[in-house]
Amino acid sequence: MYWSRFYIPTLKEDPADADVVSHSLMTRAGMIRKLTSGIYTYMPYGWRSINKVADIVREEMNRVKSNEMVMPTVQPAELWQQSGRWKAYGKELLRFSDRHERDYCLGPTHEEVITDIVRGEVRSYRQLPISMYQIQTKFRDEIRPRFGLMRGREFIMKDAYTFDKDDEGADTSYWDMFHAYEKSFSRMALRFKSVAADSGSIGGSFSHEFMVLADTGEDSVAACKKCSYAANIERAELKPSGKVADGSKAAAIEEVHTPGAHSIEELTAMLGASAEDMLKTMLFVVDGKKVAVVVRGDREVNDIKVKNHFDATEVELMPGEMVEAVTGAAVGFAGPVGLKVDAILVDYEAMEKDCWIAGANKTDKHVKNVNIKRDVPGAIVKDMREIAEGDVCPECGGEIELPRGIEVGHVFKLGTKYSAAMNAKFLDENGKEQFFVMGCYGIGITRVVAASIEQNHDEKGIIFPPPIAPFEVLIVNLDPTSQDAADAAAKLHDSIEAMGLDVLVDDRDERPGVKFNDADLVGIPMQLHLGSKNLASKTIEAKDRRTGEKTSLPLDGFEQAFADWKKKVYQGWNM
Ligand code: ATP
Ligand code: MG
Repeated sequence: MYWSRFYIPTLKEDPADADVVSHSLMTRAGMIRKLTSGIYTYMPYGWRSINKVADIVREEMNRVKSNEMVMPTVQPAELWQQSGRWKAYGKELLRFSDRHERDYCLGPTHEEVITDIVRGEVRSYRQLPISMYQIQTKFRDEIRPRFGLMRGREFIMKDAYTFDKDDEGADTSYWDMFHAYEKSFSRMALRFKSVAADSGSIGGSFSHEFMVLADTGEDSVAACKKCSYAANIERAELKPSGKVADGSKAAAIEEVHTPGAHSIEELTAMLGASAEDMLKTMLFVVDGKKVAVVVRGDREVNDIKVKNHFDATEVELMPGEMVEAVTGAAVGFAGPVGLKVDAILVDYEAMEKDCWIAGANKTDKHVKNVNIKRDVPGAIVKDMREIAEGDVCPECGGEIELPRGIEVGHVFKLGTKYSAAMNAKFLDENGKEQFFVMGCYGIGITRVVAASIEQNHDEKGIIFPPPIAPFEVLIVNLDPTSQDAADAAAKLHDSIEAMGLDVLVDDRDERPGVKFNDADLVGIPMQLHLGSKNLASKTIEAKDRRTGEKTSLPLDGFEQAFADWKKKVYQGWNM
């Protein structure tokens, strides 16, 4: 391909609304153009990279015997009503009606459609397992579309679905997909971690997220510095330290006057004590029940753990008026002693000290010398807080750190959640009707391209890993008006293409400075610089975009020299 015929509208300036480097570089390198909030055109140069990612995923899906198909983007409301998600999915689901006033939505995901297909077609256990996938545009009306392709409203996802006859089969399907994901992301040269995740509202019991580690990630990952433990922060468990203060050393409870100290910060300032000496009591409404959760003053309650404890569908912070009614005090003075709620959950750490400072359930009052064991009978002691930097790894006792991550893939074991809701059954070996045991698996194809750029760039521009680069090789013709140089460039182009690589020749009539800047900006991993000077000396300059290292390659015997250099460049990418 020749740049003069390939449309790459590069820009010198960062777009005004770019909040992360991938968004800015993808716009400047002519990969994407914004149409409206969260909705982008994939320009020719960007589309090539998106397709390379899709092709790798496609190969790995096919390898685990998943069948490619394409489902419609427009989905009828009835299917979503059957699964219960017409209500549950909320405002991310873009809904509309047709001229006959029938309701539809734009597919944010396809569990309903695939379950409908399989329940109508598959009758017998002999037809199972079945695995199908598609690579297709999704629409989610995200509350805050941002970061370019990382959180768009319209984006491309690979979504796969498996149907098995039993749990064991579903587990096999799950791990096949898990390994296919590991392989796909490794082939793209991404630095990633698979983390155990909470299955959230989609339900099910097995779930892993694949996180690309990058400072701009929207998620935090809890990872051990010592072992391979990694978990979604919402899911990360904490073990009890084993230390339980029995209260034998605790003095009697004593009330202290703390006017206006509604928060832990205000209280520490007023009492000159540290947040680690205090208890924080948070009040929730959990499926209609009044629940108090007690953690150390410097900790945060993990409401997913609260939700999971009750196997609840809804956990909400208690509204202010209700807090006042329950505690008999202004908001900010709740404490566990004498509190009248349906349940008090206490985090392990709150058992470790003999004496705590806590809210008194009286306005402008706190209490000292609170001991949970002695003073809060009936408390349920459990892991209730969010993991933090420096915590102890639940697997090996090492130290936890919290790197930022971008979720690029997600695998779920769904079980019979959708098949039961939508009455999707087959006949088992005994002629008995059973619900399909399902799994669903997503990869954000467009998000992967952005995530890769977050990991691989410098101040000059993008640095594409060769497997997902729009072109692997860029020949920069520095003398575009010379026929000899044009001929030499064409010859190199053809011989590199014959090696099975995608190659672009910058044949534009531009100054070398412009071309070098654009070459670094668009990030093609292997650059070859060619001008009249090179033709005289019969050598060409090769530049590894990642390291910036330059190597001289002979024009006679070019193919072998190039192949050796290419090998070195790929080795630098660990491939
Ligand atoms: P997130 O927590 O980031 O919103 P999710 O849990 O909603 O993600 P899934 O429903 O599991 O995501 O979708 C599968 C994959 O699709 C995600 O792992 C992610 O890579 C991608 N994805 C999800 N939402 C978006 C989006 N708004 N823009 C781009 N890619 C997305
Ligand atoms: Mg989401």
